[in-house]
Amino acid sequence: MKCQKSFDNEGAKLYVVATPIGNLSELTPRAIEVLGSVDIIAAEDTRNTMKLLHHFDIKTRVIAHHMHNEKESAKGLLKMLQEGLSIALVSDAGYPLLSDPGQYVVKEVLAEGFPIVPISGSNAAINALVASGIVAQPYLFYGFLGNSEKERVHSLHELKDLPYTFILYEAPHRIEKMLQSCLDVLGNREICLARELTKKHEEFIRGNIAEVMSVAGSLRGEMVIVVEGSNKEKEVVEVGALTGLVDTYSADGMTTKEAIKKIAKEYGISKNELYKEYHGLN
Ligand code: SAM
Repeated sequence: MKCQKSFDNEGAKLYVVATPIGNLSELTPRAIEVLGSVDIIAAEDTRNTMKLLHHFDIKTRVIAHHMHNEKESAKGLLKMLQEGLSIALVSDAGYPLLSDPGQYVVKEVLAEGFPIVPISGSNAAINALVASGIVAQPYLFYGFLGNSEKERVHSLHELKDLPYTFILYEAPHRIEKMLQSCLDVLGNREICLARELTKKHEEFIRGNIAEVMSVAGSLRGEMVIVVEGSNKEKEVVEVGALTGLVDTYSADGMTTKEAIKKIAKEYGISKNELYKEYHGLN
């Protein structure tokens, strides 16, 4: 066991500093003070961070710390701490470590016995969650599901049965495919797509997955998706009401598999759930 008293410690520290996710007025006075007083700022993208520092007239030296040099850079940062220098770790937006670099260096710095001090600020997931209208607690922050359909489906299967709200990040060019994967695996749950948070075009689109999908193709900018947790009872009632339709389509000449696929698509439910319900496997 190790105990850290952040404010009783005069030595070198690693500050983990949250930076704005769009609106620059969300950099707190404490963050400005820390960024201006540390010896080094370790940044995911030095050019981006320089713009932020320039805006606040902060002249601290900036070095690169990104996912491609994380291990090498961590060694250098540790050496600086050992020399008594204090460091602020920042990413391009929001909190380092959260879908951003930083996990490795935090672990290494703690192992060497230096304090890690968090400096609060903006975070896209929490902003989306509290305005989503979906139950805010308990929640699970997941971040990006993955680039390929296989990765997305695998991750969604891990999340599917949890009775917790969960929060996903996605890039705009993948949002339609990602929502399709959500629909296929989770069924037509309630979601909130929060876009361009804290910026001029901030927008919240609340509805079920199929509804949000119908407008998702035209959406631009950065986005977060808040998804309601599993509600087994609701799913069984909805899916259960559709099993008779499988027989109707089958009587019209479709195979059971084709009928299930068609109904799942039409009603925006999970075809796996309908399959299980139809065959009494639930
Ligand atoms: N570390 C950041 C945080 O604390 O929120 C997240 C960084 S992650 C690399 C970038 C993703 O965060 C984007 O693809 C998007 O999903 C989400 N994001 C960041 N800024 C956002 C904003 N202003 N509005 C909506 N989503 C945002």
